[in-house]
Amino acid sequence: MNKNIKYPYQPEGRFVLYVPLSNPFMAEAKEFGRLNSLDKTMPTSSVVVKDGKIIGRGANGSTYHETHECERVKRGIPTGQGYELCEGCHPKNHSEPKAIANAKENGEDPEGADLYLWGHWWCCEPCWKQMTSAGIKSVYLLENSEMLFNKESPNNIIGRQFE
Ligand SMILES: [Zn+2]
Ligand SMILES: [Zn+2]
Repeated sequence: MNKNIKYPYQPEGRFVLYVPLSNPFMAEAKEFGRLNSLDKTMPTSSVVVKDGKIIGRGANGSTYHETHECERVKRGIPTGQGYELCEGCHPKNHSEPKAIANAKENGEDPEGADLYLWGHWWCCEPCWKQMTSAGIKSVYLLENSEMLFNKESPNNIIGRQFE
């Protein structure tokens, strides 16, 4: 199931599953990101699904990068590392913990729920930690995410995700 994708981070014993955009939860995640993400380069969004319904939604980003240069870019920090060092990149602004927090705000328990992530091809370590401690069961990504949302891939759609 891992299609031999080499993720920048992947916790021991956990793996991700893939669905096409025809999956209604993935489609809803994309639409939520289109409307709510504050990250203009890598808009990312998540929905938390339990018993066949969406209990939480989250989109990434903060307004920090509009007024400040990214601390990670400034310091030449490689992709996937040092998110904590920049207010604009901070994991608290990633869509996965935001969707989990939203589920709790809605009075729902994310324990045993699934998370659908649109707009990225892997989850960072702080997000995996949050998902694991919230009891998220399965993590779904969009099919071909490793190509579509990967800056290193020549076939990526970064900059035209919503076209
Ligand atoms: Zn930044
Ligand atoms: Zn993250």
